[in-house]
Amino acid sequence: MKKKREGKTTSKIFDDHDHGMCFDDAIEQIENYFLKKNLQFTPLRRKVFEILIRDHKPLGAYEILEALGRDGFSSSPPIAYRVLDFLMEHGFVHKIQGLNAFIACSHPNHSHSPAFVICRKCEKVAEIDEKKSGISFASPNIKNFEVEKTTVEMTGVCTTCSSAATI
Ligand SMILES: [Zn+2]
Ligand SMILES: [Zn+2]
Ligand SMILES: [Zn+2]
Repeated sequence: MKKKREGKTTSKIFDDHDHGMCFDDAIEQIENYFLKKNLQFTPLRRKVFEILIRDHKPLGAYEILEALGRDGFSSSPPIAYRVLDFLMEHGFVHKIQGLNAFIACSHPNHSHSPAFVICRKCEKVAEIDEKKSGISFASPNIKNFEVEKTTVEMTGVCTTCSSAATI
């Protein structure tokens, strides 16, 4: 029996979800954004984003290059880095410092401080929506210090992995 957890901060990524729809939504969002901003959604930019949204797993730069190669794009590391920088600049990709890897943003189109929960077993990463969770990651009150950027990365085990372990 599967229990559905109802929590404010539950991410659909760790729930069963229609990933086809999730994937299409993400592509549609980025397409619309590029169109609106008059930016070119080049085949390489599209492919890098597709690779990152494919299964919600963070990928290192080297893995992205490998995936590009498999899909018939022979990119040199500097070009791939430029594409990643570009996607990060526009908020569609985040870097997970702890894993030295990149992940597609789950809710682009608004500025936010990303917070991640990382399953150390299946290596899936979910991004927590700051607004929905009600946790403010961006403006912690620290004496004599002005926070400019916050990166929150929480490591643990997702329910799928923890229930698999008990079988
Ligand atoms: Zn999905
Ligand atoms: Zn994000
Ligand atoms: Zn897991």
